[in-house]
Amino acid sequence: MKAHDGMYIGGEWRPAAGRDRIEVVNPADEQVIASVPAGTEEDVDAAVRAARAAFPGWAATPPAERAARIAALRDVLVARKSEIAETITAELGSPIGFSERVHVGAPVAVAHSFAEIGATYAFEERLGNSTVLLEPVGVVGAITPWNYPLHQIVAKVAPALAAGCTIVLKPAEDTPLTAQLFAEAVHEAGIPAGVFNLVTGTGPVAGQAVAAHPGVDLVSFTGSTAVGKQIGATAGAAVKRVALELGGKSANVILPGADLAKAVAAGVGHVMNNAGQSCNALTRMLVHRDDYEEAVSLAAAAVAKYPTGDPRDPATRLGPVVNAKQHDRVRGYIAKGIAEGARLVAGGADAPAERGYFVAPTVFADVTPDMTIAQEEIFGPVLSILAYADEDEALSIANGTVYGLGGAVWAADEASAVAFARRMDTGQVDINGGRFNPLAPFGGYKQSGVGRELGPHGLAEYLQTKSLQF
Ligand code: NAP
Ligand code: MG
Repeated sequence: MKAHDGMYIGGEWRPAAGRDRIEVVNPADEQVIASVPAGTEEDVDAAVRAARAAFPGWAATPPAERAARIAALRDVLVARKSEIAETITAELGSPIGFSERVHVGAPVAVAHSFAEIGATYAFEERLGNSTVLLEPVGVVGAITPWNYPLHQIVAKVAPALAAGCTIVLKPAEDTPLTAQLFAEAVHEAGIPAGVFNLVTGTGPVAGQAVAAHPGVDLVSFTGSTAVGKQIGATAGAAVKRVALELGGKSANVILPGADLAKAVAAGVGHVMNNAGQSCNALTRMLVHRDDYEEAVSLAAAAVAKYPTGDPRDPATRLGPVVNAKQHDRVRGYIAKGIAEGARLVAGGADAPAERGYFVAPTVFADVTPDMTIAQEEIFGPVLSILAYADEDEALSIANGTVYGLGGAVWAADEASAVAFARRMDTGQVDINGGRFNPLAPFGGYKQSGVGRELGPHGLAEYLQTKSLQF
């Protein structure tokens, strides 16, 4: 596949400072499809200098003009939709239909939303005898994961651009080709040189250099809680702003009287989408004990509609997981679930294909809240079904992990679902199958993170306030 042999810095593709490379592997067949340079501290430093130099000009650009550039960026993403989707399918393994609809569709919607919000946002407010100015934070260091390679980038870059910040991006090493296409789109959209910069590389080298660079004013990270803790510590030591979007172990609570068949089918789909590699995946299904066996049979039937297959085939709904490490990790969790006494009703730890990092769609019943598979983020196509006796027990199970990112409640009526959702310690709850909203703040309670992305709340993360008293 096409790849740039350089870093996008100061509006051009520049040779990397070092000679190390990252091989990009197609997880469906384990073949190397491209390679990109692995950035060093020197590359990050050059990118930060370019971002600093561009900052005063971009910060002073009228918000409407910045918003117009974001709209142009959205239009380039739309025009190059097929190419981007094919690239995501090749390096992530996501089924092509899902790549087009979600991996490109969601960031297009997010870019669109920030083009609108950025044009009308009140960057000034009056409070008594003061005028409060909402000013851009400065240079943003963005570190993103591979699970939604374009969405995770756009969810940081679009609001940062709208706020008047400049950016250095270190994308996941598994999905650098999507990041390079994004840099091309930024260029085509006429965003001035230095406003957005890309350094491909590994987390411990390039990522660490971004988090630690004194010229970075805000670090925005999405990924694992373990790395997030380190980045928070590094940023804290330098009194730097930090936003962390971390892991999840979200509960899908089905209350008595809910449409069980609909709730189970939607819940299974939510976990199988993207091969379970969504931070807000509803991996714990909580069902009242009277409905329990029926829910387990419905889930076993629903999961049969997700056989693994070639992600380039439009009929495929479940592709491989991203890499060999995740392949081992996810199957290790399945083995652990069996060892700890959960009842396997579909799938299992055996690889369903000789080649490619495929994991069989897996459902566990008789999962208890203390089991490893009910506590830790698996990040694969694995659903756990837990039983509860009453609403208080359902709530204590739902809230009984270190995480609090997503969630869902199904009930006979909206009011009962909302009453339950109010008691959940989590940043988002879908009510009776509520849809994704690009304007809704997204982020975690507890160890799922600090800060919010998307919509006006997401834009506010990239602003700092100055008050003038009269
Ligand atoms: P990760 O290591 O946290 O990776 C996220 C990003 O941080 C990547 O760009 C990564 O670079 C970078 N990074 C890694 N170590 C770093 C360091 N010391 N300093 C600065 N940046 C660093 O996540 P992962 O290894 O890809 O996945 C591991 C687990 O994290 C998954 O199984 C899943 O549980 C969780 N996860 C959560 C999300 C989410 O959206 N909440 C997304 C992805 C993964 P490299 O690409 O080079 O590692
Ligand atoms: Mg990693």
